[in-house]
Amino acid sequence: MSSVQQITVLGATGSIGLSTLDVIARHPERYRAFALTGFSRTEELYALCCKHKPSYAVLPDAASAQALERRLREQGLTTEVLHGEAGLCAVASHADVHAVMAAIVGAAGLPPTLAAVEAGKKILLANKEALVMSGALFMQAVKKSGSVLLPIDSEHNAIFQCLPVDYARGMAAVGVRRILLTASGGPFRQLPVDELENVSLAQACAHPNWSMGRKISIDSASMMNKGLELIEACWLFDVAPAQVEVVVHPQSVIHSLVDYVDGSVLAQLGNPDMRTPIANALAWPERIESGVAPLDLFTIARLDFQAPDEVRFPCLRLAREAAQAGGTAPAMLNAANEVAVGAFIEGHIRFTQIPAMIESVLQAEPVRAADSLDAVFSADRRARELAGHWLSRR
Ligand code: NDP
Ligand code: MG
Repeated sequence: MSSVQQITVLGATGSIGLSTLDVIARHPERYRAFALTGFSRTEELYALCCKHKPSYAVLPDAASAQALERRLREQGLTTEVLHGEAGLCAVASHADVHAVMAAIVGAAGLPPTLAAVEAGKKILLANKEALVMSGALFMQAVKKSGSVLLPIDSEHNAIFQCLPVDYARGMAAVGVRRILLTASGGPFRQLPVDELENVSLAQACAHPNWSMGRKISIDSASMMNKGLELIEACWLFDVAPAQVEVVVHPQSVIHSLVDYVDGSVLAQLGNPDMRTPIANALAWPERIESGVAPLDLFTIARLDFQAPDEVRFPCLRLAREAAQAGGTAPAMLNAANEVAVGAFIEGHIRFTQIPAMIESVLQAEPVRAADSLDAVFSADRRARELAGHWLSRR
């Protein structure tokens, strides 16, 4: 058998997907793009297929899948184009696949990511929403199948790198006092609070340090991203919400820290470029070149830290409360946030109405046990319905 590892990239047309393909292309002797999936950016998926020549591609519907396959045939490519959720799950769990990059944005990423987990694949997890929604079930499935779960989110990858090397093979992270989750504070860290109401979509998407997809950029501006990451950290590292402290660090050079009981604090540093965590997870426990420039500490010169402002950023408080409530609360929080961000993008609500909508959804529905996928998806649907009512009542 060839030693080249076959990689499925879920969400190949997105920001993480493209960075992943950049790292893969630097190491053709180690990795090959086995399957690439897209959703709305069909032209980009066509170009990626021409470049990477995957065995499979996936698009949302049969007509667009057939059209793409026809165009690829004209180029002499044999890529088979599947469609829909079944297509995503098929390429995520295919027998020839070594690792799956889970980089679809939002709840849509959960079914194929879980299919990859259940098939025992190595999971490179960028799609934090999947874990936030179904944390306990997701982690149980990882344990049951023996999947190796490696975090791509830069903070969680940093924490992972500061834990003992055997951690990913099931060793408990003993002696950890706190996890310090760093946050840039986003584009509105210093904006006068009364101006938040009138910020535009372009301002919300203009992250000071990272170039990312639109949804996560808006989540970073509201700090819901850090709230989702807090929940993500609790599941990945088996810690209570109270053990995770958010630290605003505007330079985004320290990607997170682990505080041990003996007083040692370990941090991971690097330029803000997602190719570092992607290369780290792809090659783990080895190290490979990622294309990221070396860190120049003399240019950076200083590192600043501040406490987060939960009055300015109510989403952080809402996420912490959902983490503490457990059950279906994080799935409801995530779904309400997806609807709120969509409504902000469409210009239906103001930036400051994002937390208002989420809070009203969370207050309207009791928290239930998240003991089955049905319970998780029904909480997701209910939250979207309540968010829809909130929108139509205004
Ligand atoms: P993008 O918006 O850039 O990409 C999202 C990808 O998901 C695209 O390939 C998109 O396809 C696809 N997609 C969107 N909706 C669906 C759907 N309903 N079904 C199937 N596929 C869909 O997002 P990012 O790459 O920025 O983020 C991806 C994930 O990684 C998110 O969960 C995010 O939180 C996480 N993450 C991202 C980071 C970053 O630096 N970008 C950092 C840490 C985490 P198409 O474009 O063709 O429509
Ligand atoms: Mg992050």
